[in-house]
Parts: sequence; structure tokens; C-alpha cells
Amino acid sequence: MDCLFCKIIDGSIPSDLVYEDENVLAFRDINPTSPIHILFVPKVHFASLSESHGKEDALLDVFKAIRAYVAKEELDKAGYRLVINAGEHGQQTVDHLHVHLLAGRQFTWPAG
Ligand code: AMP
Ligand code: ZN
Repeated sequence: MDCLFCKIIDGSIPSDLVYEDENVLAFRDINPTSPIHILFVPKVHFASLSESHGKEDALLDVFKAIRAYVAKEELDKAGYRLVINAGEHGQQTVDHLHVHLLAGRQFTWPAG
């Protein structure tokens, strides 16, 4: 399968890893939009939330991994933002579900 994040997961494309467990990998975004910009990806491939049927455990695993990382780095003190882009309007560019963890600066709402 020609999936960038599957290739990062299998090690054939390098990444700046910050977290790994049995089911989840997290690495720094190559084009960060905040001082901390990390992508959390399930090791099992599916494109989006809409295609996660039968793989709900992976969704929970991703959020548990984020929770652990946020606690370890004490990001909950100042706060952070989680983003899932989906489809064309959401400007998803990699069709392997991922959650952006953004932190280290003040964000605004609504997002542009
Ligand atoms: P999205 O636009 O939500 O699909 O997010 C995809 C993200 O992957 C973008 O923020 C890209 O900067 C990031 N990205 C693309 N290629 C790489 C790579 N080789 N390593 C790390 N992040 C990447
Ligand atoms: Zn994939």
C-alpha cells in the first residue's frame, strides 16, 4: 500500500519519533505550525474516522497515547490543541488517520 505513514511505521521512511507503543506511533510534523507539532498515528491503517469501523480500539489507543504524552510533557498546564483533518474541506493530505497535537503557543478560535 502506498501510504506515507505506513512507511514511517514500518521504518522505510525516517521520522523524528517522540513516542511509540504496541499500537501507536508519534513523530514530529515535518512542517510544524507550532513549537510542538506532533502527529499521533495508529499502526493499523485506515484513512479516517469514517473508515474506522471495526478498528475503534485504535482510536482509543491513539487518545490514550496522547494523554500519556501530554502528561509526561506537562502540556496540560498551558494547554494544547488536537486536530483531525478529514477529506477535502478538512484539507487532509495523508489518508492514514492521524491526530495533530499542537502546543507551545496561544491558539485562536475559530480556526481559519
Ligand atoms: P493532514 O494535512 O492533516 O493530512 O496532515 C498531514 C501532515 O503530515 C502535514 O502536517 C505534513 O506536514 C505532515 N507530513 C508530511 N510528510 C511528513 C513526513 N515525512 N514526516 C512528518 N510529517 C509529515
Ligand atoms: Zn497507512
